[in-house]
Amino acid sequence: MIEITDIEKIYRMGGETLTALNKVSLSIQEGEFTSIMGPSGSGKSTLMNILGLLDRFDNGQYFLNGTDVSSISDTERAHIRNKEIGFVFQSFNLMSRMNVLENVMLPLVYGKVPRKERKERAIDALEKVGLSDRLNHLTNEISGGQKQRVAIARAIVNRPSVLMADEPTGNLDSKTTEDIMRIFQDLNDEGTTIVMVTHEPEMAEYTKRTIHFRDGALQKDEYLVPKRLSKAEVR
Ligand code: ATP
Ligand code: MG
Repeated sequence: MIEITDIEKIYRMGGETLTALNKVSLSIQEGEFTSIMGPSGSGKSTLMNILGLLDRFDNGQYFLNGTDVSSISDTERAHIRNKEIGFVFQSFNLMSRMNVLENVMLPLVYGKVPRKERKERAIDALEKVGLSDRLNHLTNEISGGQKQRVAIARAIVNRPSVLMADEPTGNLDSKTTEDIMRIFQDLNDEGTTIVMVTHEPEMAEYTKRTIHFRDGALQKDEYLVPKRLSKAEVR
């Protein structure tokens, strides 16, 4: 589903250039749960932003679900991104003036889904993350872990084929981190492909595959038997 070949990303600042990705080739199949690890500055976020169609690259090729997205227009990229990709960031990126339900409904507003269906689908997504009792709370009235669960609900409400998460638990304590990983494992069991950047080896243990990055290149790619979290209530 994700197939990149010889991807190069070069950042240009003034007269200087920095090669953030150095001919990276990688494929990720449907149903995988992959973690991406590596030192700070090794290119993890750069790769995620490219895979998530948030950023362009300089050389190479990218096929997403069989479509060549290497050199499509910005409008087309936005269209494919809204349809195929859900994004979760370390900093949640929620709208503070909207309540939980409105935040989750937002991607469907852009997607032209009728209002009644928007609400049903948002509630459905919030049920998946164990937050259907917080619909009317504002985002400053819930905890950090709950905020990230709202962000996950928002990312999956469009039923994307891939969920991308860049350090999704970077700001959360270990108990809350486990809750998030349990949600990811449940979503993955239901068929969502997940790609997650993390600094923490303990988090990579919950994934089926770990890709190690170094200096903008793939260093190691390993398939693992993931540590399972039971399907207990999230709180
Ligand atoms: P971290 O673990 O700290 O988040 P990372 O692996 O995600 O690091 P990237 O953010 O992908 O690393 O950065 C890779 C390299 O590209 C770094 O050297 C960084 O300084 C540089 N870089 C990232 N974004 C930009 C940008 N917008 N402009 C210029 N250089 C950038
Ligand atoms: Mg990063």
